[in-house]
Amino acid sequence: MNDGFDYKEMMEHLRDLFQVGAFPGKNPESPEVPSSTPFEVLIATILSQRTKDVNTHKASKELFKRYNTPKQLAEAPLEEVKEIVHVTGFYNVKARRVKEVAKIIHERYNDEVPEELNELLDLPGVGRKTANCVLVYGFGEPAIPVDTHVHRISNRLGIADAKTPEETEQQLVGSMPRRYWIEINKLMVEFGKEICRPRNPRCDSCPINHMCKYYEEVYLNEDR
Ligand code: SF4
Repeated sequence: MNDGFDYKEMMEHLRDLFQVGAFPGKNPESPEVPSSTPFEVLIATILSQRTKDVNTHKASKELFKRYNTPKQLAEAPLEEVKEIVHVTGFYNVKARRVKEVAKIIHERYNDEVPEELNELLDLPGVGRKTANCVLVYGFGEPAIPVDTHVHRISNRLGIADAKTPEETEQQLVGSMPRRYWIEINKLMVEFGKEICRPRNPRCDSCPINHMCKYYEEVYLNEDR
């Protein structure tokens, strides 16, 4: 792994690129930016599994317009919830899941989403990525949600050498200064959509190619 990696420089480039000072959550650096509640982040992240952002956004907006508390969602008619989340795919499972999670939040946690990682992980259908998203985007707590973009980019850069997102998370938590955790998911997701794409990464125009293991070991050696 890339031990002497300059995280500060990487963050400066990524922030410049996307003009993002901080993630749009409860961050002291950008308190004016409206944020979602932990419950909304939790439900929207469950709906976001295996679908595009645009579908998640559409379904969650409609869902929270009709049912915006755990109690309301827990008691919502299943068929209506299915209809609303249909656009996100796997709607049978997702509709049941969000209702089940809402019921637990209502009954066990008195309508407050828990702020503890382990309690979040105990909720049905909530894995590490979802739980960390709730911590970062719902509570403004430092954590590193590792989705497919963060996993891929970290391994290309050489700041992780891991087979699974869980391993990548562990390695990043061990090496990345804590002050960057809260922004890294947001920045890498944007970076992964526009530059370090899954296929045909735009390495030639990448501002951090001089820090990248993939660029040095693979890209420069490819026939083009
Ligand atoms: S040089 Fe290429 S592989 Fe490396 S971070 Fe940039 S786009 Fe991704």
